[in-house]
Amino acid sequence: MTVDPTAVADRLVQLRARIAAAESAAGRSPGSVRLLLATKTQDAATIRAALAADTGTPHPVLIGENRVQELVAKGPLLGDLGVTTHLIGPLQSNKVNAALRWASCIESVASLDLAHRLAARSSGVQVYVQVNVSQEPTKHGAAPAEAVELACAIGALPGVRLAGLMTVGANSRDADLVRAGYAVLRTLRDEIVASGAPGTADVQELSMGMSGDLELAIAEGATVVRVGSALFGPRA
Ligand SMILES: *Cc1c(COP(=O)(O)O)cnc(C)c1O
Repeated sequence: MTVDPTAVADRLVQLRARIAAAESAAGRSPGSVRLLLATKTQDAATIRAALAADTGTPHPVLIGENRVQELVAKGPLLGDLGVTTHLIGPLQSNKVNAALRWASCIESVASLDLAHRLAARSSGVQVYVQVNVSQEPTKHGAAPAEAVELACAIGALPGVRLAGLMTVGANSRDADLVRAGYAVLRTLRDEIVASGAPGTADVQELSMGMSGDLELAIAEGATVVRVGSALFGPRA
């Protein structure tokens, strides 16, 4: 089903205003946070409508797909737009080639094994290490206590470029708890850079914050927010 393009355009204006207000409240410069459209279940026409509505922004948007199957299906339909696409859902090792064909960044790397498989087939794909800051058992991601060591090992691999960290925040109404999780991701990023380990000097990105909590993430230094329902409406 295709979402009403006017509704998407209106929501996009509101979303850009929310991001700008949060940047300003956090004392961060306008445009320091990139918007990634979490496009799972949305068809190519809806994604095109959202991208067409996004004019004159300080930063081009990113597209984020959760499933390799959707990435592969929509990739050819959106390729002419030249939009940078990230994989934001877990990647199985048998789908590495397909993911590399359509995504220029894999945000969901949580094991050295997957990083090795990516490095063996790629020359320079960007990767983020996904960390499970809330330690909720259903969530994907490396444990915070293991994240620095994992990131340093990945940074040393030729073939991948470690660019940042990603997390899905705590599923909680407690804003302090959610925000504390985002602070953990920022602290880990800073520890990784301070380690001085090979391939970690350029680790900068913090992909964190979604429709319901992007202000908290921006306050803690998010450089990418991943937004779905605030733009496309509730998922069926
Ligand atoms: C769906 C999804 C989002 C966006 O969530 P919304 O609450 O719809 O904004 C962000 N990140 C990941 C990994 C997702 O799967």
